[in-house]
Amino acid sequence: MSQYDVIVIGSGPGGYVCAIRCAQLGLKTACVEGRETLGGTCLNIGCIPSKALLHASHQLHEAEHNFAKMGLKGKSPSVDWKQMQAYKDDVIGQNTKGIEFLFKKNKIDWLKGWGSIPEAGKVKVGDEVHEAKNIIIATGSEPSALPGIEIDEKVVVTSEGALSLPKIPKKMVVIGAGVIGLELGSVYARLGAEVQVIEFLDQITPGMDGEVCKTFQRLLAKQGLSFTLGAAVQSVEATKTKAKVTYKLRKDDSEATVDADVVLVATGRKPYTDGLGLDALGVEMSERGQIKTDGHWATNVKGIYAIGDAIAGPMLAHKAEDEGMAVAEVVAGKHGHVNYDVIPGVIYTHPEVASVGQTEEALKEAGRAYKVGKFSFMGNGRAKANFAADGFVKILADKETDRILGAHIIGPMAGDLIHEICVAMEFGASAQDLALTCHAHPTYSEAVREAALACGDGPIHS
Ligand code: FAD
Repeated sequence: MSQYDVIVIGSGPGGYVCAIRCAQLGLKTACVEGRETLGGTCLNIGCIPSKALLHASHQLHEAEHNFAKMGLKGKSPSVDWKQMQAYKDDVIGQNTKGIEFLFKKNKIDWLKGWGSIPEAGKVKVGDEVHEAKNIIIATGSEPSALPGIEIDEKVVVTSEGALSLPKIPKKMVVIGAGVIGLELGSVYARLGAEVQVIEFLDQITPGMDGEVCKTFQRLLAKQGLSFTLGAAVQSVEATKTKAKVTYKLRKDDSEATVDADVVLVATGRKPYTDGLGLDALGVEMSERGQIKTDGHWATNVKGIYAIGDAIAGPMLAHKAEDEGMAVAEVVAGKHGHVNYDVIPGVIYTHPEVASVGQTEEALKEAGRAYKVGKFSFMGNGRAKANFAADGFVKILADKETDRILGAHIIGPMAGDLIHEICVAMEFGASAQDLALTCHAHPTYSEAVREAALACGDGPIHS
């Protein structure tokens, strides 16, 4: 029986980051992973492979739509789907091997297999039981199914199947207009599929700033995605090669059926805690199946902590990572902290969409006095040069103090631009602080500065 200071169960961005930080803090650490490679959902079947396909399909879009305008003439590239998949798999391999290297470097034992917790202080992997002063559960999440819809991962797929389809479908129906559905839908639309998104609510990406939502839907529609909103899917009937999706429009109860080669069910994810033995241990869970934790990621059972998608909060890799680092500090007797008010959210379509902090709708509802500074990428020289002038930056600041309360960006590199505002918010900066900071020209980030200027005396280029 081996003895550890910490055993982390799950090697996704929450678990592997936690294990590395624990080891860096001098704790004898092991990480249990049942998958054949490290890195969890994120590296194997989530963030990384989806971004590889988004990147490749975006390059095709640029070649088809913008190259000739810049004087780059000749035949547009054709799609070699097998090679695109090989590229994606290679990217996954490089990343998962990278975590293996980091584990070796930090002397973290990878306990291969599925772990369970027979009692506090013990983790069972296969036939072996290991002792640990602290156990950190980082077992992540899995797709949540729609009742009555059977997933075969061939014709009716979750995001996992959608990342590895044998061929590009002619017609794809995406059920659910959230981040994952729209990212993968836009990949296949760019690769030539007819993509129809069916969403229960009356808007896409619920919870997002309303103005951004409208612009986002318009731009995706321009790229060929079609949207059926306010529609409740009733059934999906599939054969080995085709499917029929029947939905009912909520406004008038009328029913319609559409045919598809592939149906992507992207209706959200739920925590994955199967097989851990949490019931028998008496670990408290929420009604949504999340492990309940306190402000220090401790469960109600002494010595057992939980982080990432398995607990409450946004299901994002960087949220899991931050919790992983923070809980490592806690078990090492230090002070771990995560500022849940400043966690950015990004959609990696083209244009990208990024947000942090409050939305205008939330501020209105809270009755908070605020001001809005908005700047369109049409006024940004770099964006115009790069055929990337669709979209805008919107900064929300307190009406009296000018303190930044939130920001919403739709446009080129929005997922990177948002971090300037995250840092500003962490420092409690005002919009004027951003507006008075010199920004290099010509960069997309000038649009952030202009939006900050728009919170005060006004932007220059609009
Ligand atoms: P996970 O990454 O889910 O890892 C959990 C690991 O635990 C898994 O490897 C699992 O095998 C292992 N495990 C579970 N139970 C056991 C057990 N009993 N014993 C041993 N091992 C076990 N987030 C972003 O921030 N940005 C993105 O761009 C993004 N894109 C995404 C795209 C897709 C298609 C999907 C599906 C998700 C995406 N996400 C993205 C979400 C992101 O992947 C998750 O938020 C993140 O992976 C959660 O990390 P985690 O460490 O909590 O769990």
